[in-house]
Amino acid sequence: MKLALHWKIIIGMVLGIIFGFIMNAYDGKEFVSDWIAPFGKIFINLLKLIAVPLILASLIKGISDLKDISKIKTMGLRTIAIYIGTTLIAIVIGLTIVNTVKPGAGMSQETIEKIKMKYENDAGVTDKLAKATAQNDAGPLQALVDIFPSNIFVSLGEAKMLQIIFFALFVGICLLLIPKKKAKPLIKFFDSLNEVVMKMVDLIMLFAPYAVFALMANVIIAFDDTEILLKLLNYAFCVVAGLALMIGFYLILIKVYTKKSPLWFLRQISPAQLLAFSTSSSAATLPVTMERVEEHLGVDKEVSGFVLPVGATVNMDGTSLYQGIAAVFIMQVIWPEGLTFTNQLVIVATALLASIGSAAVPSAGMVMLVIVLESIGFPAELLPIGLALIFAVDRPLDMCRTVVNVTGDATVSMIVAKSLGKLHDPKPKEWDDNYDAVK
Ligand code: ASP
Repeated sequence: MKLALHWKIIIGMVLGIIFGFIMNAYDGKEFVSDWIAPFGKIFINLLKLIAVPLILASLIKGISDLKDISKIKTMGLRTIAIYIGTTLIAIVIGLTIVNTVKPGAGMSQETIEKIKMKYENDAGVTDKLAKATAQNDAGPLQALVDIFPSNIFVSLGEAKMLQIIFFALFVGICLLLIPKKKAKPLIKFFDSLNEVVMKMVDLIMLFAPYAVFALMANVIIAFDDTEILLKLLNYAFCVVAGLALMIGFYLILIKVYTKKSPLWFLRQISPAQLLAFSTSSSAATLPVTMERVEEHLGVDKEVSGFVLPVGATVNMDGTSLYQGIAAVFIMQVIWPEGLTFTNQLVIVATALLASIGSAAVPSAGMVMLVIVLESIGFPAELLPIGLALIFAVDRPLDMCRTVVNVTGDATVSMIVAKSLGKLHDPKPKEWDDNYDAVK
């Protein structure tokens, strides 16, 4: 019997976790980082390699297929409105949970000291603080200015998603405006490029079960202090519970708005979710999310080509939910006097903006958390301790919130597609239909 792809990936993950623990126990960390981890890195590189041509080709082709330019405006406005709506709901869920469970209330002084000693000056923590300062120095409209590229080759080279989306939309719209005969060769070119890149996704995914083995083993060898991990269990539970509720919320949206079965949706999108979990990066997962959404969920290219790359950059429901919980948790432990209602409202606003500004890469959410904390006047000298408090569990929580970020993008693309009449019966291609050829 042929095993479905998501099962192969799950098996790879489980074996990777077991292998990581064995290597941890037998002093094999170096072996994993020297000989196993590079295969995970190769996989992520390959996914990133195809992300840029994929966005460019699928968006230009998709937009140039539209009969009616006004649809672009409707699609854009709807996408942004739904993204903001789901993110606000995520933050409110997070704040409700953390204020009810109060995970930070009972933490002993001794534990706080221990965590402080261990992580306050950790490179991971100081690095996040430095990045946050760099981000903070930019002016208020910098994010808007950054959407408009001055050199598209630089944007492509640096994989600046929003700039590439802007350029692709611009090209697509102009292709609609020039005579059909003149537009045809370029449209055909991007159509063909799109097909090629989609096939590349299929081929790269053949390697996924092995790559996730490497990625998971590498994550496990990074865990060292299980005692601290256990102390943070309450906090981690709040984040995971919030994220699970968010997935439930998406499934309700799918059922209500698209009339599709939530289980079917989960089955189709699961390979992307599993990769989001293993890579902790919605940007690296993007090609697979696009492939799943277009070919397995039936969303038309012009919708997925816009909604998903925009979503990977600006829509991070999991990240904003986490930022709300983490900010309040840190306050409960070391700055309880800051826990006012007004501050929590400020957190809602800044966590929304911060999730838009967070890069779709591992632990970006933690950098933006610094900005959320600063916005409520959190004492600067306590910031390193605040980050140290949540640092030990950040990687596993990052993995979980990235799953929610990716699932949120896929959900919204289904809803927008449905509302524009662009949701069809999917025509899935076999992942391994070229297997014999590549063997
Ligand atoms: N790793 C997340 C993502 O790529 C961002 C974050 O929350 O750190 O979606």
